[in-house]
Amino acid sequence: MLYISTRGDASRKHFCEILLEGLAPDGGLYLPETYPQVDAATLESWRGLPYASLAFEILSLYIDDIPAADLRALCEKTYTEEVFGSKAIVPLRKLEDASTGSARTDVYLEGLSNGPTLAFKDMAMQLLGNLFEYELARRGEELNILGATSGDTGSAAEYAMRGKKGVRVFMTSPQGRMSPFQQAQMFSLQDANIHNLALEGVFDDCQDIVKAVSNDLAFKRKYKIGTVNSINWARLLAQVVYYFAGYLQATAAGSSGKVSFTVPSGNFGNVCAGHVARMMGLPIEKLVVATNENDVLDEFFRTGVYRVRGSADTHETSSPSMDISKASNFERFVFDLLGRDAARVADLFGAQLSKQGRFDLSGDAAFQSAARRYGFVSGKSTHADRLQTIRDTYARFDLMIDTHTADGLKVARAHLTPKVPMIVLETALPVKFAATIEEALGRLPPRPAKFEGMEDLPKRVTLLPADVALVKAYIAKHVD
Ligand SMILES: *Cc1c(COP(=O)(O)O)cnc(C)c1O
Repeated sequence: MLYISTRGDASRKHFCEILLEGLAPDGGLYLPETYPQVDAATLESWRGLPYASLAFEILSLYIDDIPAADLRALCEKTYTEEVFGSKAIVPLRKLEDASTGSARTDVYLEGLSNGPTLAFKDMAMQLLGNLFEYELARRGEELNILGATSGDTGSAAEYAMRGKKGVRVFMTSPQGRMSPFQQAQMFSLQDANIHNLALEGVFDDCQDIVKAVSNDLAFKRKYKIGTVNSINWARLLAQVVYYFAGYLQATAAGSSGKVSFTVPSGNFGNVCAGHVARMMGLPIEKLVVATNENDVLDEFFRTGVYRVRGSADTHETSSPSMDISKASNFERFVFDLLGRDAARVADLFGAQLSKQGRFDLSGDAAFQSAARRYGFVSGKSTHADRLQTIRDTYARFDLMIDTHTADGLKVARAHLTPKVPMIVLETALPVKFAATIEEALGRLPPRPAKFEGMEDLPKRVTLLPADVALVKAYIAKHVD
């Protein structure tokens, strides 16, 4: 399997060549040349496989430069009951059979948040940590990961890379802006290869500094700077697996029926993995994109207009991991939507977005058939919806859900198809967003035992002004 860029770069690359890279050299994103097809018989044969084996079957369709035995070992080392809390790894829980007209429709939650940092990002990041360590050892190289986080990504990256050979993490975050739980999660790590840099500024300042350092090519080369942001193809690929796992749990043997998924979305990484699964032949009826008040994606799927917001128009909400103004993985879907016309994608995401901050596909036949051909529909949820959904779920099912998952569940209920199971992806546990849970329910969410007393542990964090030169100096000092 070879990989191409959404903007038409002529080189075709193998998996391990793009594993440690972010953007393609032409500014595009990597996608496989074709989507491997999984027929009904193969899908049936995967029923009952342990999650790690299912991951191996799917990943091996996309990775031809890691020997099969090694890839299987990497999957088995990653997806363990010990790390993800259950044998199923992504357990499905039935909430209700909602009435849709005269029929009933089962609504499920797929638990993706039982990994080390209690958010779905662990599903991909834990694999990435093992893949990075494997590939760097094979090459005899080192990598220094520089990132910016407002919460979930940074902790997932640190817990995936802690103690890994050949990798250091330098994670910037806006000082005092993460939730106390998120800060404690990151700053209590004592591993020598993890560096927390709390910058005096907001998240955008952190991101600007990461960009400035990455744009200094001499520095980047000398200090082997890399990233693990959500455009990384390996992260997206790892996420494809739980769509298959969700399908296999929600359907009976030999049923060959369809299911739908609802995905709380920000950067379009999670739901893009659902798109890939559907393109491989997984019987998915709808992919429902759920947004919060930051509704760039909902606006696109309703109107065909993609309009990037400025930071002034990006709202701070109670589902903060979806507070994005620009969906960094969206280009991948648009590439497929437009029949893989790379020149057009380059024009839309290069010229048009940088000049006008928007593009408009409303008149395009491809957009008009997006729902029919690709299953995409969307909806939006607000703070009031979130509180209401958290309350209702607690009252009816004795279950606390987090704010992002609540956005998903709210939007899912508007898109039920009679008799087609609806699977809502649970993207975090409520303890990460305790303040809003307390606002909704008047009580705090339970805290898993392994996080008791976390705030009292010694903290490893360096406070710095938001200054590129100082961040570079810190990296240089800790790499040499
Ligand atoms: C990252 C994140 C999201 C958004 O996922 P994307 O892949 O960026 O669309 C949603 N919910 C939670 C809890 C997250 O951490």
